[in-house]
Amino acid sequence: MKTYNFSAGPAVLANDVLRAASNSALEYAHSGMSILEMSHRSKTIVSLFDEATARTKDLLNIPEGYSVLWLQGGASLQFSMVPMNLLAEGGFADYLVTGSWSIKAVQECNKIGKANIVASSEDQNFSYIPKEFSQNIDSKYLHITSNNTIYGTQFKKFPKVSNTNGYLVADMSSDIFSRPINISEFGLIYAGAQKNLGPAGVTMVIIKDDILDERSKNLATMLDYKTHIKKSSMFNTPPVFSVFVVNETLKWIEKIGGLDKVAQLNKAKAGKIYQEIKRNNIFMSPIAKDDRSLMNVPFKYSHKSLEDSDFLDFCSKRNLYSLKGHRSVGGFRASIYNAMPEEGIDALVNAMQDFEKNIN
Ligand SMILES: *Cc1c(COP(=O)(O)O)cnc(C)c1O
Repeated sequence: MKTYNFSAGPAVLANDVLRAASNSALEYAHSGMSILEMSHRSKTIVSLFDEATARTKDLLNIPEGYSVLWLQGGASLQFSMVPMNLLAEGGFADYLVTGSWSIKAVQECNKIGKANIVASSEDQNFSYIPKEFSQNIDSKYLHITSNNTIYGTQFKKFPKVSNTNGYLVADMSSDIFSRPINISEFGLIYAGAQKNLGPAGVTMVIIKDDILDERSKNLATMLDYKTHIKKSSMFNTPPVFSVFVVNETLKWIEKIGGLDKVAQLNKAKAGKIYQEIKRNNIFMSPIAKDDRSLMNVPFKYSHKSLEDSDFLDFCSKRNLYSLKGHRSVGGFRASIYNAMPEEGIDALVNAMQDFEKNIN
């Protein structure tokens, strides 16, 4: 039986991508060397980075005036780098709190400037996206988490920033490249690769160049976006293999038809599971209907009396893995990123149906 990995991250990758990764680990670009051994200063690797950047710009339709960076430290380091680079000493920014990752972003901002929480959905265990809130007119930026990996909510429409000189900053770690977005609404987007793009070890940052101060802030060199813009993400030794895998994922996205097609597939895939949750008597969704994520689908037993039954064990016997919900939510979570094939969705839906029959 085929194995399907529903892990929230590191997560499923396309077969084409894994095959390319495996081949390149033995020999890359007819060099007689493994990609793992190659200098980042070599022509081959410099052009790999150029290619990954060009594909990113092309697939996301990034306008002039933005830089794409390949950094380390995960999305978690961006929680700090964003306010360090964008806020003046003691400056403030608005934050929309929609889950644990947003809370961490707020905590890091407060070490540098002041995070003004404009709204939070914590009152209902982050089961919805707040839509009505007022922003601070002087805030430098409005920070959002576009998809809440743990709770399974996702922005379907992005908020407008009220400060005319302000801009949106988004943590898109778990839904970048899952749908087309209008980049010009954003000043900065960051995403750790290990959800929808590749392996851990690289974080994509898309930044509008003119939001960075001309003046030097005397930041640590490695924490200054300008360092990485100037050196095309090669100031120090970059995570070459991770960027290679991301580039292969982007090629695969091109091959299946680009982001319009990917968005259509994601809608259909998630739709099948939400439909089954609705139909199935033993499961329910804890998430507000309009805000349900197409990437992470949490669900629970519909009755307390079911708590002793073992759906996870039932699934693992069918080689359906990593369906346990995050400890702060409980229940189950199916992470169905771009690379989860429709057959995996069908296998999960079948398991849900068979489990229901078993119980009755
Ligand atoms: C996984 C995740 C993070 C943390 O990413 P790291 O790369 O482990 O630092 C941050 N934000 C979101 C939305 C995530 O899904």
